[in-house]
Amino acid sequence: MKWATRAAARPVEPIEPAAQASPMTVAFGAATDVGRRRPTNQDALLARGSMFLVADGMGGHVDGEYASASVVESFDALAVQGSVTLEQLRQTFGRAVSAVAALPLGAGAGAGTTLTGAAIAEVEHRAHWLVLNIGDSRSYLLRAGSLRQITVDHSVVQQQVDRGEITLAQAAVSPHRNIVTRSIGAGSRTEPDYWLVAAEVGDRLLVCSDGLTNELSHAHIRLVLRAEPNPQAAAGRLVSQALLHGGRDNVTVVVVDAVAVAGAPQPPEDAARLEVVFEPLAPPARAAIYAVDDCDDTVPRSTLPRPSLAPITTGVNLT
Ligand code: MG
Repeated sequence: MKWATRAAARPVEPIEPAAQASPMTVAFGAATDVGRRRPTNQDALLARGSMFLVADGMGGHVDGEYASASVVESFDALAVQGSVTLEQLRQTFGRAVSAVAALPLGAGAGAGTTLTGAAIAEVEHRAHWLVLNIGDSRSYLLRAGSLRQITVDHSVVQQQVDRGEITLAQAAVSPHRNIVTRSIGAGSRTEPDYWLVAAEVGDRLLVCSDGLTNELSHAHIRLVLRAEPNPQAAAGRLVSQALLHGGRDNVTVVVVDAVAVAGAPQPPEDAARLEVVFEPLAPPARAAIYAVDDCDDTVPRSTLPRPSLAPITTGVNLT
């Protein structure tokens, strides 16, 4: 089954309760678009039940869409569970790696993909976001009006930022900004990072490919997420904004709102007091990074025509 298709939004029911016995009731929306420069959409997404994922097929490899679709399909079976465990995620990740490695010639052999997102997990009678990441797609959490990136990119520029060699602003325009250091497939033999975040009522999770974060600033993304209460409208508007700002890459967005959270205290009146603590489940394996030889071919911004101010509705569900 291919989840990512050329130039097609994949409308998702805007409101859907999680599976029975889930510790968290969520409302969610998703949108994806091929963008304005790429011939195919190599992103894939899963937004169902307890699983919310985005995979970005490797742009420099042929058939990246097969790799991203295969990985998303591997995780689909977990979506029906009310709660997902870390061990289940790890086992499924292993199966996903094997499935990508087994892709046939002409339909994904040698291709790679990123993967990020979250599962709903119950830990000690409390609902959590169980977040994973490999590559440079991202998961964020909007809480009490503050947008925080949970995941850490596995990329050359992130390494340079960590070493203090460049700033985040320099990373955003670096010619190396699309080179990932970990992936599924494409010759990589690396593991994801995992985080466990105790959920709060009102949390808004954002999962996205770099087609969003390379076009919109952190402040711009936060603005849209705060302005659109409906998660489907928020996802569609983020994709639309990325297209208006260039659309140089495939762009995919999943937005998940925590409506009811088992074990969570009621939101305090002064919600700004909430402090988010992201605890990695294991230290990121920064010393064991496998450099994936994949220089993404995203079109440089300087070669883009001026964005049209006409509304772009193709592939975006704004309802
Ligand atoms: Mg991309």
